[in-house]
Parts: sequence; structure tokens; C-alpha cells
Amino acid sequence: MTSRKSRKVRIAVIPGDGIGPEVIHATLPVLDAVQDVATGVKLEYVFTEAGLTCVQKYGTSLPEETKQILREADCCLKGPVTTPEEPGSPKSAVVQIRTMFDLYANVRPIKVLPRVPALHPNIDMVMVRENMEGLYAGIEFMTGNDAAVAIRLITKRGCERIVRFAFNQAVERRKQLTYVHKGNVLKITEGIFKDAVAKVGQEFPEVHLDEVRVDAMAMWLIRQPEVYDVIVTTNLFGDILSDEAAQTVGGLGVAPGANIGDDYAMFEPVHGSAPSYAGKDQVNPIATILSSKLMLDWLGFKEAGDLVEQAVEDVLKEGQFMTFDLAPEGVTPAKCSEVGKRIARQIRDA
Ligand code: NAD
Repeated sequence: MTSRKSRKVRIAVIPGDGIGPEVIHATLPVLDAVQDVATGVKLEYVFTEAGLTCVQKYGTSLPEETKQILREADCCLKGPVTTPEEPGSPKSAVVQIRTMFDLYANVRPIKVLPRVPALHPNIDMVMVRENMEGLYAGIEFMTGNDAAVAIRLITKRGCERIVRFAFNQAVERRKQLTYVHKGNVLKITEGIFKDAVAKVGQEFPEVHLDEVRVDAMAMWLIRQPEVYDVIVTTNLFGDILSDEAAQTVGGLGVAPGANIGDDYAMFEPVHGSAPSYAGKDQVNPIATILSSKLMLDWLGFKEAGDLVEQAVEDVLKEGQFMTFDLAPEGVTPAKCSEVGKRIARQIRDA
């Protein structure tokens, strides 16, 4: 097999809906700059579509052609998509892509950035959320006319692999893992998760393990966010806690995300398509730019990933190019596209 380092890496790029195209188009100049300065990074973008625009055009959020492009790519960089909520409307494109490639680990780093107000100066954690099971497994149905059931699917295999993924992250970091659950109520499903933590934990004696119930965790994330290193939890809890955790370091505009499987991955900001901001060139592209850093890391281009992160930090430190969500009073907010170009220039000039 040709190594990634000796050929062009093919990236399926989905601009998405709402603010998606803006944040993606602000990110591409950053990736172009990285290719100009980092040795061996050769990327090929293949643009494709998914989400609400596809529902309107083709009646599906993930057309066959998009699936084919995704299969032929090494990984996917995705802007947020809008998901119709009406019962019976097409399934979320995001959930379909996660299922298609079994992207079981949703990874969301939460880290303080220069000049971005944070709850504590030392916050640096990674939320690892199980991405395939739990209440998001999509098993939901009516039972008669006035009741419905959604099933919280939890499997031993699903728990063991996400827990192992999280322990491996902890080993690379400060060697602390916090396992978040609701075992006092969901005794059977959380019992399986808990057994997985105990079993897999034996492989990682160097990692300090502790456990917190999800309701308490919602509180501790506000009261002492700086103490956490890696957090692992089930799908729904992780979805909610990661949005909360993002607020401790400046909000959704700076929160990157990755969906990782054994041999494929999709990178996207944590935020959604924020339709009311669409087309205004106003929103923060840093969440997507930092997601592209996670992509470079995953592809094995660690040095290139570090360049992106450093450039983001340098530009924020300088404090002149901040979108409305970060700009302090008295500083004119920068446009989304300007922030992307400034970060790209920083990479070239470094
Ligand atoms: P949202 O994340 O789109 O927006 C919530 C608020 O966060 C916005 O009103 C804005 O104040 C802020 N925000 C979000 N992104 C920002 C950015 N880049 N810069 C600055 N501020 C930003 O959440 P929502 O309004 O609940 O969802 C809108 C749509 O997005 C829904 O259709 C939802 O299904 C979809 N969604 C998609 C994904 C995805 O594609 N992975 C994820 C979450 C939500």
C-alpha cells in the first residue's frame, strides 16, 4: 500500500448548510498554507454535498453519489448540516456517515485559547463520547397513539472499544480518566459500561481512574473544569456535556470535533449550522480550523497539525482578528473569511 506521506491524501469536503460553507471556505486557505510550508503534506479536496440542501433537492440528506465520494476518500472534512426535525423526515446525514464508517469515537478537545475568556486559565481536557449507541442508535417508535419509546442501546463491544480509545488518549496526556455515568438509575445499561471500564482499565494501570455521575458532572464542569484530563461517557451524556464544556473555554465558535473509527474519520466543528447567521460572513471559523488540525494529526501530519494550532494561537494573541463572539468591546469584529486568511498568512510567515 502506498503510504499517505508519498501520495496526495484525498479529503471529501462537505460544506454543509447554514454557516457551514462559510466556515469550510475560511478553513481551506489554512490547509493550502500548510501544504505550502509543511514537508510531505499533499491534499486533494473532493467537494460533495449532504444535509438539508440534499433533502430539498433529492429527498435524502446523504445521496448515493456523496456516499461514493466519501468511500473513495481517506477522510472527510465537514461543515455543519441542518437536520429536519419533523417525524418521518430523512435521517441526519451526520448520523448516517458515522454509521456508514463505524465512527465510534467522538473526540472533542476543550482547551483554553489566548485572549479567549475562560472559566479557569488551565482548562485542557478531551471529551470522548461514544458515537454509535445509546439513545442515538435510532431505535424509536410509537406504542399506540399517545406513547412512544426510544431504546438506549448499550453493548459490551461498544463500551469496551470506546473505553479503550479513551484510556489510550489518557496515556498520551496527563494519565487521568474520568468516567461519567448514571448508574444509580440505569443499572443494567450503565452496568455494562461500568464493567467495560473495570475490564479495560486493567490494561492501563498507569492511568488514574475516577467516576462521576452525569448530573454531578454538569456541575463540576462549571466549578472545577481545570481538573479534568480525559472524560469518557455514553452518547447522549457526551453530546450535552461537550457543549457545556465548550462554554468553559469560549463557546461553540472555538470547539473542534472529530469522529473516529478504526480506519476512517470525519472532522467537523461541534457547533451546528446556525441558520440565522448564514451568509453574513460573521461567525467564527476557528472551531472548523482546529477540526482541520485534528484531521492533520489523524492523517499522521503531526507537524502540520501543530502549525495550524500555533497559528490560531498566535493570531488570537495578537487580538486584531476576532469574530463577534470573541471580540472585546471596542474591537471591531473580524469577518469569518478574514480570520481564515489571517491564520493562513500566519502559517506562511512563521
Ligand atoms: P448551533 O450550534 O447551530 O447554534 C447555536 C448558537 O451557537 C448560535 O445561535 C450562535 O450563537 C452560536 N454559534 C454556533 N456556531 C458558531 C460559530 N461558528 N461562531 C459563533 N457563534 C456560533 O445550534 P442550533 O441552532 O441548535 O442548531 C442549528 C442546526 O444545526 C440544527 O438543524 C441542528 O440539527 C444542526 N446541527 C448540526 C450539527 C452537525 O452538523 N454536526 C451539530 C449540531 C447541530
